[in-house]
Amino acid sequence: MNKEFTYLDYAATTPILPEVLSEMLPYLSDNYGNASSRHSFGMLAKKAINLSKERICTTLKWDTEELIFTSGSTEAINLALKGFYLANSSFRNHIITIKTEHKAVLETCKWLESIGATVTYLNVDRNGLVIKGELEKALKESPLLVAIMHANNETGVLQDIVEIGKMAHENGAKFFSDVTQSFGKLDINLDQIDMLCFSGHKIFGPKGVGGLFVKKGITLTPLMHGGQQHNGLRAGTYNVPGIVGLGKATELAFNRLIQNLEVVENTMKTFIDKINEIPSIHINALKAPRLPHIINLGIEGQDSEKLLERLDNEFALASGSACNAQIMEPSHVLKAMRSPWIEESIRVSIGPSTSIAELDQLLVRIQE
Ligand code: PLP
Repeated sequence: MNKEFTYLDYAATTPILPEVLSEMLPYLSDNYGNASSRHSFGMLAKKAINLSKERICTTLKWDTEELIFTSGSTEAINLALKGFYLANSSFRNHIITIKTEHKAVLETCKWLESIGATVTYLNVDRNGLVIKGELEKALKESPLLVAIMHANNETGVLQDIVEIGKMAHENGAKFFSDVTQSFGKLDINLDQIDMLCFSGHKIFGPKGVGGLFVKKGITLTPLMHGGQQHNGLRAGTYNVPGIVGLGKATELAFNRLIQNLEVVENTMKTFIDKINEIPSIHINALKAPRLPHIINLGIEGQDSEKLLERLDNEFALASGSACNAQIMEPSHVLKAMRSPWIEESIRVSIGPSTSIAELDQLLVRIQE
């Protein structure tokens, strides 16, 4: 990458660590066996998959039976929500989620509505947090599943997934949480979670691979039919290099979690101190607990699309807008939070190698 270019979009994706890539390479070249084949090539691939499973499950204290490899979080979300609904809707059909979820959850819920699910999309407060009273009210209506994310990908806002999970369970519902953004970045308490998704490319691993954790005893209807991979729950030839990379990336992320967290927290704290000196720059969800590597800035008087266009050659940043049929739509997340800076907000997401000097330069360029 061009040295003059600063990457501040780590929430969108991350580069593959060299250690991860080097473990993947043999499975992209010489060790090309299909893990379902009985011969030695197949056995080698199968062994690599089992090692990756062991690595992830030992790190997270999961049983290896509880992990399904997917093509990423989007697929894991689809399998969790649709699979759980299809297997259990004769019991209850009510799903509770929040308006600031990733589109993978919101669009899946929309589809489930089309086949008979009742979905409550809870409002959030101005800081993007679940409103406890609203959740309590919705929980009175026989919930099957509560699907509420841990960290929001646009604002970094962290929901209290321990409290929410407890509330779901007290009302007979299962709890799914999209932890894509916080996985490997924070020490997350997963005690109340029945299902969660994570993704390789958010944790310095490969794209196109991720996982779904499903607690023992939970029944899902498969979405992919074919072979018997994952005991028939997710048919299709295993993505061996991807799975190997995911295992290594997960292990490294958790081994380096405290060290990376400290670095990122310090950098972000310095950045925030500098932002606080600029009256025209505001932090969306200022008062909410947030991930240390994501910040969403409302910049008074600067249309975010125009600002990003001006900075595109120097900085990789994200605006809250989504392009829908060539029309830029304002962020559904900032809209749900009733942010005063919906059209003027950008997301800055940093990594352990982001320097204060780079962030200083960003502030200079924003204000020019
Ligand atoms: N959920 C959240 C919170 C995300 O940030 C993302 C990625 O942007 C996804 C789900 C989808 O992940 P994937 O790219 O692995 O499908």
